[in-house]
Parts: sequence; C-alpha cells; structure tokens
Amino acid sequence: MVQKGPRPLVLCGPSGSGKSTLLKRLLKEFPDKFGFSVSHTTRAPRPGEKNGVHYHFTNVEDMTASIARGEFIESAVFNGNMYGTSKQSVDDVRCTGCICVLDIDVEGVKQVKGTDFNPLLVFVMPPSLEELERRLRARNTEHEESLSGRLEIARKEIIYGQEPGNFHIIILNDNLDKAYAELREFVFKNVEEKERASPFFEDAEGKVRRKIRLN
Ligand code: 5GP
Repeated sequence: MVQKGPRPLVLCGPSGSGKSTLLKRLLKEFPDKFGFSVSHTTRAPRPGEKNGVHYHFTNVEDMTASIARGEFIESAVFNGNMYGTSKQSVDDVRCTGCICVLDIDVEGVKQVKGTDFNPLLVFVMPPSLEELERRLRARNTEHEESLSGRLEIARKEIIYGQEPGNFHIIILNDNLDKAYAELREFVFKNVEEKERASPFFEDAEGKVRRKIRLN
C-alpha cells in the first residue's frame, strides 16, 4: 500500500492498558483531525458496542475469505478471535484528510512495521500486571477464561513493547491525564512537524487536499 495523506498513528498495548480511553479522548478533542480505523473482528459485540462504529462484527468464514482476497493490511488472532484492519477502513479515514488512528495488538504491529504504511507507533504500558488485572476485572466485560487469556497475552506484549526500537514512544498509563498529555505532545511533535513541509497531500482517490493543522 502506498502511503497517502498524513502518517497513520498506531496505539498498541495490553487489553486494559487504557489505550482505547486515550484514543477516545484524542478523537473527542480533535474530531476533525483524527479518524478511527474501524477494525473487523469475529468476537461477539459487548453491550453497547455498535456494528460499524466500534468494530465491523463478522464471522470466521467471511473474514478468512476477505483476508485471502488481500483486503486486509494486517490481521491477527487475539485470545481466540480474529481481528484485522481492512484497506477499506483505512481509506475511509484517509479520504476525509484525517490522520488515521489504529488500535491494534502486537501481532498487527509486527505486520505493519517496516511496510510503506509507515505508522507512528505508540505503546501504552500499564503500571503493573496486578493493576491491569484489577482494571480488567472492574471493566466487567470478560468471563474468567477470556480474562486469564488476556493477562497471559499482556505479559508477552509488555516484553515486546519494552524492547528498544519496537515503538517510537512508550507511554506509562499510571495516570490518565498525564498519559494523555504525553500522547498529545508526541502527536503534535511528530505528525505536525513532518507534515509541515507541504500543505497538500494526495488522498486515497488521488485528489489533492490541504493538510489539517493540529493547532
Ligand atoms: P478487544 O476484544 O478488547 O476489543 O480487543 C482485543 C485486542 O485486539 C486489543 O489489544 C486490540 O488492540 C486488538 N485489536 C483490535 N482491532 C484490531 C485489529 O484490527 N488488528 C489487530 N491486530 N488487533 C486488533
């Protein structure tokens, strides 16, 4: 995939690290500047989750076929369910001129790393595994088996996340306001400065558009 428009932003981190909360805050503060890439998943919707908003909810058969047709940038199996970023979802954001934001796991990060997708990679670190477990339990969205699977994956993700060179920044989420301020600063510095050189970019349809400003 040829990179068009602003550089995408990837948020990764263990389930319960707070990355979705940080992401929601960024989208709320800058609704015209960032757009969420809606992933596909085969897991069942949680109460309140809307199809096409939080995820495109699908099934194994359809998703496997779609991946085989080359319609996905990346895909992974997380805790027994399939997740993936379709090219269409990314293009849907890019054609608005917004910065595309992805919430994906470590396996997805490994796939997009080094490709011409060229995202900025953020790893959100929980303060400890104990705190992660406490947050996941308090969220009350997972049954015991899913919860222990998520904690097992978290251990591996934390090791990968902390290895030097795997991410552009590691944000410790021991305090939401502090973590958000760090994310915001990183985004301002890296997205905007790199985009400043030219005020225009080509969108997914090949149209020349003016780049957005973060302030
Ligand atoms: P959840 O079931 O809690 O919504 O998500 C579980 C994990 O799947 C999270 O770590 C989330 O970042 C990851 N995830 C969500 N969408 C995608 C995707 O499109 N690709 C990949 N590789 N992981 C995803």
